[in-house]
Amino acid sequence: MTLRAYGPDASFCPRCGAPLAGAPPIACGRCGYNLFVNPRPTACLIVLDGDPVTPRFLGLLRAAEPCSGQWATPGGFCNGWEHPSAAAVREGREELGVEVTLGDCVGMYLGSYEYQGETLPVLDVFYFAAIDAGEIRLDPAEASEMAWFELADPPKLAFETMNEAVRAAARQLGL
Ligand SMILES: [Zn+2]
Repeated sequence: MTLRAYGPDASFCPRCGAPLAGAPPIACGRCGYNLFVNPRPTACLIVLDGDPVTPRFLGLLRAAEPCSGQWATPGGFCNGWEHPSAAAVREGREELGVEVTLGDCVGMYLGSYEYQGETLPVLDVFYFAAIDAGEIRLDPAEASEMAWFELADPPKLAFETMNEAVRAAARQLGL
């Protein structure tokens, strides 16, 4: 049995280490600490190519688990108190090597993320984005290939939140 003091499978109090009587949300029977499980926010980019008639969005072929070898939108976890819009710009820099300008927020989608043997709830915040200038330089640790896909006819993406967000983005652009 894996000992966990956080996440949906937490079985020990993160403050005093006492076993918990059940799954969170729950109060520790020894010290009274209230343990909640909250989704972790991420920032995701629907980068458009600027074509007003047949807009395409940027897909990256994931090079790392989870979902290695599947197409995905760029993005990543927000750090601490980092606003999702700031995280989106940072992820553009890190994963694509370019500066992006964000457009409207497409929406927020609740998903799950499997990592390090855990399944954690995530809240994926999607933004429209455009590349300011320059050539995309992929971070090989993150992505092995890139492609532009029609927003109105997307492939299946790695995470269901991405599929939902791309459908919503197409609707919002009247496609
Ligand atoms: Zn406790």
